Amino acid sequence: MNSRPSRWPVSGVLRLVFALVFAMAQPLLAQVPVSGPGIPANSPRPVAATAPQTNDTGALAREAQGWLADLIKINTSNPPGGEDPAAKYVAGVLQKEGLTPEILEVVPGRSAVVARLRSAAMADPSKALLLVAHLDVVPADKSRWSVDPFGGVVKDGYLYGRGAIDDKGMLTANLAAFIALKRSGAHLNRDVIFLATADEETSGDASIRNLAAKYWDKFAAGYAINEGGNVFVKNGKVQYIGLQASEKVSANITVIARGTAGHASQPTKDNAVVHLATAVAKIGAYNAPVRFTSIVRRYFEGLAPLEDDEIGKWIRSLDTPDRGEHAQRVISDDSPLWNAMLRDTIAPTTLSAGSARNVIPGEARANLNVRLLPGNTINTVVEDLNKLVNDPLVRLEVLPNAGLAAPDSSLENDFYATIARIATREFGGAPTLPFQSTWATDSSQLRLHNVQAYGLVPFPLNDEDLKRMHGDDERIPLASFAKGVDVMVKIVTEFAGAR
Ligand SMILES: [Zn+2]
Repeated sequence: MNSRPSRWPVSGVLRLVFALVFAMAQPLLAQVPVSGPGIPANSPRPVAATAPQTNDTGALAREAQGWLADLIKINTSNPPGGEDPAAKYVAGVLQKEGLTPEILEVVPGRSAVVARLRSAAMADPSKALLLVAHLDVVPADKSRWSVDPFGGVVKDGYLYGRGAIDDKGMLTANLAAFIALKRSGAHLNRDVIFLATADEETSGDASIRNLAAKYWDKFAAGYAINEGGNVFVKNGKVQYIGLQASEKVSANITVIARGTAGHASQPTKDNAVVHLATAVAKIGAYNAPVRFTSIVRRYFEGLAPLEDDEIGKWIRSLDTPDRGEHAQRVISDDSPLWNAMLRDTIAPTTLSAGSARNVIPGEARANLNVRLLPGNTINTVVEDLNKLVNDPLVRLEVLPNAGLAAPDSSLENDFYATIARIATREFGGAPTLPFQSTWATDSSQLRLHNVQAYGLVPFPLNDEDLKRMHGDDERIPLASFAKGVDVMVKIVTEFAGAR
């Protein structure tokens, strides 16, 4: 049981924020946390002096920067994941605040962490707010990095490391907001639940699917904030906030070409490698038809005035009968993100064939990673590709590991409005646009449980830094991290603080 927040003699969000700051400002700077339960004793905390103090949660952000560096040093590359040490570290941070986190084992060695701030003796799950992020990261190829990907290195105003943004950065911002709320002692109008999940990156046996099957009651909520959307910086300032309310669905297709195996000195016309390569080349040049989902339509409506005149003109022409087709081509060519928001995409990702240099193999295979617009089905894609490939030696097989198709979150409720209002206010008046991510997140599982889940990684990031997620030299600008912590505190405080 978490300690019950004491009732506050004041109301109003502003006063709540001031008191929060007051409560946090004093003990933290001097207090270098010591090893707690599960905190690795050998992970030194960087002296917190690097994040610029740009806002009223500066001290908290510096403290959170230490947690983030510590978490980066706990290698949770997935596969294999091995999230338990990171789960224990997070639990240790929560315990030091007097909270009672629970470690939820999903499969041996792979656990999630959950903690709750109660608003009343009897929880109302339909009102609860869930702060969710994942503990695992994608692997890093050390030889391609300029620093140790698991060193938590601070350099030139950035914190480097695998997971600095995706998703240990977000996890840390959630943790900071949750702890700020606890420290404030504010009375809450709803339960607030912190959740760190495992196995998000491969959606395997330890992922939120099985976590929810085993432990749903531990984190049942009506609202959630997760990764999935971003604060997009262009030319040095925030252009817009993309607040994710929907996501595409991932699926995989195996392309299998079969021919006659034989001696490479006498090639035949049914060489499986040649048939596979021809099929993949056709698929690579193919564009699936454009379909506007309601969220993408609203996204482009909001985006048009933010772009230069030329691009703005083509965005406005996207759905017109006379110029639509040309506009769709211009917009798709201009941005891989926009292209992928408008249609199903099909990306060849792996190839395998052959075992010896002088033997023609009887079979060759490729994998296609497909990302479906919400509402589209993989069977339609297979039909279209079969027509396109049109080769009796080539067969398409859908793999059974497709992602979850979930309903969109509403753009009309209080939580969406609260996030949008705060984000726009805090990021210099930049508009908040509804966003349909081309990537998948844990939110699809939550939406299937009737959670109104929204995606917003709260750190302002430019294209160059966004591209480093899942790439080399992933890093987070310290100023963006501090700003993101501040914004997350405000979102959680204003939505869950009693009014
Ligand atoms: Zn992620």
